[in-house]
Amino acid sequence: TRRPLVAGNWKMNGLRASLEEIEAMGAAYDDALRARAELIVCPPATLIAVARDSAARGGLGLGGQDCHASASGAHTGDISAEMLKDAGASYVIVGHSERRSDHGETDADVQAKAAAALRAGLTPIICVGETRAEREAGDALSIVGAQIEGSLPADAPPYIVVAYEPVWAIGTGLTPTTEDVAEMHAFARERIEERLGGGKSGDVRILYGGSVKPSNARELMHVANVDGALVGGASLTAKDFIGVASAY
Ligand code: 13P
Repeated sequence: TRRPLVAGNWKMNGLRASLEEIEAMGAAYDDALRARAELIVCPPATLIAVARDSAARGGLGLGGQDCHASASGAHTGDISAEMLKDAGASYVIVGHSERRSDHGETDADVQAKAAAALRAGLTPIICVGETRAEREAGDALSIVGAQIEGSLPADAPPYIVVAYEPVWAIGTGLTPTTEDVAEMHAFARERIEERLGGGKSGDVRILYGGSVKPSNARELMHVANVDGALVGGASLTAKDFIGVASAY
């Protein structure tokens, strides 16, 4: 059985004062909720080391939002998976659609970053998802299938996490129907199996992301093959993030 994972992606939000929210999340993340779901926060890299003690006290995990494929070297402004691990992260998001669009990251780049995460002892959360134009053209399945094929290292272990985030649902308040989510997640698991083999896909957690909030989390989180959520805006406050996690 797959333990549900609720992951908060703070994107480019958060100053040291935001530690209050991490403290409050930890305080609300009680034993009963902990038994039902794993909770992690992916703040900006500047806050990982800062948040380490608060997160540990509250039983929350920490993750980065991106990493470089190399462990170290002449790459001004970049951060390696090893550095995130050293700062206190146990996860890292790779291939978020905002990285793919803002920084031109390709599936091959994302695969290299996922491999770097595994090398460093981090669990990669590998993001895939179609744009509105791709969905309207009837290409959602083929696009997501190709992203899975290209972005997952072929030898990845079953503890990797995949996040299905339709680009048109991110930050828009729009969500796919539960039927569409079920179709996409079932298809994603088939393609993950083709990529990894050996029955490993049965243990891979597939998160849904895109406009998840307390009011729709229960419906989305109970769709077949949805093993948790990757939450943007609603992860910035303890009230909303715990509200989402309480779907479990
Ligand atoms: P929102 O929850 O703000 O739509 O963002 C989703 C997302 O991109 C999480 O990675």
